Amino acid sequence: MITRRTTHPTALRIQILYTGGTFGMADQGAGMEPRSGIAAEVAQIIAGYEEATGRSVEFGYAEFDRVIDSGAADSNTAFRIAQWVRYRVESERPHGVVVIHGTDTMAYVGARVAFELRDLAAPVVLTGAQIPLGQPGSDAQHNVHLVLDSIAARPVPGTYIAFGSGLHPAVRASKRACDDYDGFTTVRQFTPPPSPVASLPHRRSAATPRPVGLLTVFPGLHTDLLSAAIRQYPGGVVLECYGSGTMPHTAEVIETIRTATRRGTPIVVITQCDSGSVDLERYLPGRTLLDAGAISGGDMTREAALAKLAYLVDLGFSSGRLRDWMTTNMLGELSNPAGAPPVSPHEDALTARSR
Ligand code: ASP
Repeated sequence: MITRRTTHPTALRIQILYTGGTFGMADQGAGMEPRSGIAAEVAQIIAGYEEATGRSVEFGYAEFDRVIDSGAADSNTAFRIAQWVRYRVESERPHGVVVIHGTDTMAYVGARVAFELRDLAAPVVLTGAQIPLGQPGSDAQHNVHLVLDSIAARPVPGTYIAFGSGLHPAVRASKRACDDYDGFTTVRQFTPPPSPVASLPHRRSAATPRPVGLLTVFPGLHTDLLSAAIRQYPGGVVLECYGSGTMPHTAEVIETIRTATRRGTPIVVITQCDSGSVDLERYLPGRTLLDAGAISGGDMTREAALAKLAYLVDLGFSSGRLRDWMTTNMLGELSNPAGAPPVSPHEDALTARSR
């Protein structure tokens, strides 16, 4: 942990956690790999920001013990990040926290961090780069400056991804380009919940967390693949279905889903489409899924649906209460039911920050 303090009373105070990713990678001959010990380079980027804006920045910096290519993120990575962030926010009271992360799983990890830290008083902003620090055309410096600008503008507390030309709410973001500075898209419009959501326990339930998984359906999906997913992920499976929530609905597939939901493995249906929402009442296959106990994931992104399901299962929710929470907009991850009045402050803040 490195801390650089200034004496400036108006300094922007931030905490930075570097977890790995292309941002700090180098190729030693076997393909790009993450590099640790980049504190001095990050400090230089911040100095450049101070010079360009005339704003002083006071920061604390830490790295993962083992920095990773974010493809190696596991179901615990977001939880580790969230614990670190919570601790730093409580002890250092920064204006915001920056998490430097690989882009490949940034939306998955960001969405989970958003749920874990949904009560946090400071904004958390994830960023990374498509081209490593110091290499020609690197976007590392630009992206860090974008984060600092975003935190300086005092966004509503929440978890964001700042990348390229925009600030994205993590629960609505997805990586959609691996060859463009704008690597992320806000797939669905951010819709703040109509009223604050009741508080949930913040600690994980005592029981060992039951793993949660994701499966995309496709023409020719074999029941054995679905059964294997359900066996491997007894905590629950997010099924990325077609359109408004259809899939190959053979009697075998539906029976497999019915057996799973009866045994307490929730099946959450989301859509492969980039706009519109699941409506399980619309087509016969959807109704069959509903009848077999599936839960509609509405218009959640795959990353947010997986993160939310894992979060709720880790908190110990099951059956009816799990269904209720999965279908409630907790932090903007889901559109509000028709007729619910939107709450604008968060949305306005986002619109104002997005360029
Ligand atoms: N493979 C890298 C990672 O996710 C890609 C990136 O950071 O852009 O760690």
